[in-house]
Amino acid sequence: MGSLQLKSIRKAFGTHEVLKGIDLDVNDGEFVIFVGPSGCGKSTLLRTIAGLEDATSGSVQIDGVEVGHVAPAKRGIAMVFQSYALYPHLTVKDNMGLGLKQAGAPKVEVEEKVAKAAGMLSLEPYLARRPAELSGGQRQRVAIGRAIVREPKLFLFDEPLSNLDAALRVNTRLEIARLHRSLKATMIYVTHDQVEAMTLADKIVVLNAGRIEQVGSPMELYNRPANLFVAGFIGSPQ
Ligand code: ADP
Ligand code: MG
Repeated sequence: MGSLQLKSIRKAFGTHEVLKGIDLDVNDGEFVIFVGPSGCGKSTLLRTIAGLEDATSGSVQIDGVEVGHVAPAKRGIAMVFQSYALYPHLTVKDNMGLGLKQAGAPKVEVEEKVAKAAGMLSLEPYLARRPAELSGGQRQRVAIGRAIVREPKLFLFDEPLSNLDAALRVNTRLEIARLHRSLKATMIYVTHDQVEAMTLADKIVVLNAGRIEQVGSPMELYNRPANLFVAGFIGSPQ
């Protein structure tokens, strides 16, 4: 299970209110895309779901259970960042297994799960390398592999493809779509890219200045944008 319920989430940094009341339900197994202009609060919202930021008010529930006071590592969430955030001194294998190892999993279990994730992402030839010996696309696959190894209920992706060139972006996007189908996990994914949004999403959430403008399937938003702002992002030309 990996459903998510956000109720009236507000988040301020000092006097600057970045999230101004976010209500959202994500169903188990759904692929949900957040889009919106730079600075509208997408990363802050992901970080609040992950527990890397505390909401100023409101509630975050996973499968109906309040997680506001649950530590990030205990929420059953894995986050993949644009910057990969790999440990440079560790091999691919150790980067992928670190989370499980730190959670106290036995060595055989860590090895088994790392091998399985490496197989899913065609990373077997690179397990002994360090991040500096990999291309950008390979590094991002390692970051995704590290998330898979932890078997999270919920994957959060923050613009995971934006540092990759166009061809790699397409390949990695297809790989993420395939993983979503095979893992049947819930995924929430931030992007600037309309093609990513339209092709990956079951549901698109359009954010603007800390509020949700519209939630709907790609076709709903494309055919019936609620306003000009949404139309400008994903709607059909008006
Ligand atoms: P997005 O990911 O949509 O581009 P962010 O969530 O990163 O937007 O940022 C939303 C706003 O919150 C921006 O104005 C940003 O400067 C501000 N912000 C984000 N993190 C912090 C922080 N730790 N301290 C202060 N302001 C922040
Ligand atoms: Mg961001």
